[in-house]
Amino acid sequence: MFATLSDRLTSTFKNLRTKGRLSEADIDATIREIRRALLDADVAVTVVRQFTGAVRERALSAEVSAALNPAQQVVKVVNEELVAILGGQTRTLAFAKQPPTVVMLAGLQGAGKTTLAGKLALWLREQGHTPLLVAADLQRPNAVTQLQVVGERAGVPVYAPHPGNQGADDVLPAGADPVAVARAGVETARQKQHDVVVVDTAGRLGVDAELMAQASDIRDAVQPDEVLFVVDAMIGQDAVTTAQAFADGVGFTGVVLSKLDGDARGGAALSIASVTGRPIMYASTGEKLTDFEVFHPDRMASRILD
Ligand code: GDP
Repeated sequence: MFATLSDRLTSTFKNLRTKGRLSEADIDATIREIRRALLDADVAVTVVRQFTGAVRERALSAEVSAALNPAQQVVKVVNEELVAILGGQTRTLAFAKQPPTVVMLAGLQGAGKTTLAGKLALWLREQGHTPLLVAADLQRPNAVTQLQVVGERAGVPVYAPHPGNQGADDVLPAGADPVAVARAGVETARQKQHDVVVVDTAGRLGVDAELMAQASDIRDAVQPDEVLFVVDAMIGQDAVTTAQAFADGVGFTGVVLSKLDGDARGGAALSIASVTGRPIMYASTGEKLTDFEVFHPDRMASRILD
């Protein structure tokens, strides 16, 4: 991820470093190269415009022209503006004063929600929490079983519609109600004193009204403290459109970028926080449960500009 973007920005700055004082034309040429590199990396047009506008304004200010090394100062400005569009501060789950903290996962099918549920559960357990996973994805064959498998690997219990029926979601009663399952799961967490409950929900292949309605019904039923929108970074520009649809249809408090280990151009990762106004909280970086990290905007920016 980001390899091409990173290479292009690095070579842009290398050219700039050969100059001493920077003229307005030098700055504009640099901004043009940055704009092209971002657009080619699939960064959303609105974000590119906002970003290059902010960089240009600061690059032409006294902050840069008075600097001993103007080129280095431009790189610093670009770095700071990158951190800003990536959401600024690092942000992780905010725990409720009154447990359990309810975390709901939302996103398209295949986004990596179920995998993420296991990763998050393991991460929480390692931090001394006592999570419960709730299998409220009753849409996809095997989703319940898959959650039970990741729960077992993470050493975290799973509340499923048929607790005794391991691996048998094909015998779920027709019309099993995901909203009721989610509600009962959260109630179980309360009774059994789990301090965090993570509710996995169904996704569809594309955004549709029924999916949104079900997700908002679950949200209304469990009143989550956090709704995490899980999005596959590999889907490029579509990630931003999908995020916007979920922001409007369900609402979320944070983003999890999955499949950051892939070789996508990275524009989604760079656009999503800025477009939705919600922070990227975690990154999923592989298929193993330990391939999971807290997302740090500053580290990501440094990685891109390295
Ligand atoms: P869900 O439909 O949203 O629950 O998605 P899943 O959790 O079932 O994930 C869909 C596919 O993506 C599975 O094959 C996962 O193993 C894979 N996957 C999930 N997260 C990652 C990730 O961070 N990196 C990679 N390479 N694959 C992932």
